[in-house]
Amino acid sequence: LGSRIILSNNKNELNDLAVTINQALDRIEYGYKQQQQFISDASHELRTPITVIAGYADLLDRWGKKDPEVLQEGITAIKSETEYMRQLIERLLFFARSNSGTLAKHFMDINTAQLLLEVYNEINLIDANHDIIVTKNESETIYAEPGSVKQMLRIFIDNAIKYTPPKGKIYLSCEIHEKEVYYKITDTGIGIPRKDWDRVFERFYRVEQSRAKETGGSGLGLSIAKYIAKGNNAKLKLESELHKGTTIMAIFPIKKPEQKQ
Ligand code: ADP
Repeated sequence: LGSRIILSNNKNELNDLAVTINQALDRIEYGYKQQQQFISDASHELRTPITVIAGYADLLDRWGKKDPEVLQEGITAIKSETEYMRQLIERLLFFARSNSGTLAKHFMDINTAQLLLEVYNEINLIDANHDIIVTKNESETIYAEPGSVKQMLRIFIDNAIKYTPPKGKIYLSCEIHEKEVYYKITDTGIGIPRKDWDRVFERFYRVEQSRAKETGGSGLGLSIAKYIAKGNNAKLKLESELHKGTTIMAIFPIKKPEQKQ
């Protein structure tokens, strides 16, 4: 990598060939660099929770046997760090396993209202700290891969929960506009500054004010959501106001009657 073919004669065909090969090499080099960056970011992210767990294990070793408060603190911290790490590893593996085209093989008819209800029911079992309300749930058919669409909505709702203070409200809806279905997740949380609206979809990117560790984010959720949206022919749209809240939308085309199975 690095060096490129240079031809100085006038034969057009050879020059074209050189250009084609050089472009291919550029693409390979770019892909390679991206992968290196990904591995280095991933290792960095994994190192942080390990350091915290090791620190608490040490604390427990020294003081935990005598002091029940330290014992409880240590156990709580280790549990939450391992949970964070489990999710992080799952998300890293998503990228390692994913290759474009595999989603499309599992496409099927999905009833939009039913899908939202299924996601809502799962969420409600987990989060008792927020008021999660379905404001509208319209029924239509989309043609997509249900598992990944649910995963995407879960990422949006997990974020709404993470970045909204306890007792805050979170609204879910499924709305039909023209020939499209809009899944909307609206929260009443910290919001995202305008300058970061595009960047939050990049791998490992986190907005300054939410980097504080207690939200337990890795910066991978929305990049996975973006990948899933693309694989399911959906568009994503973000609207947000700082300190007021955020709305994220996934927009799917309604299935045309003639669309083949
Ligand atoms: P993370 O695991 O950090 O939440 P994401 O890729 O899901 O990673 O999101 C990237 C960043 O975008 C988050 O770290 C946070 O700064 C910001 N963000 C995402 N969703 C919201 C939201 N609903 N409200 C406020 N900020 C958000």
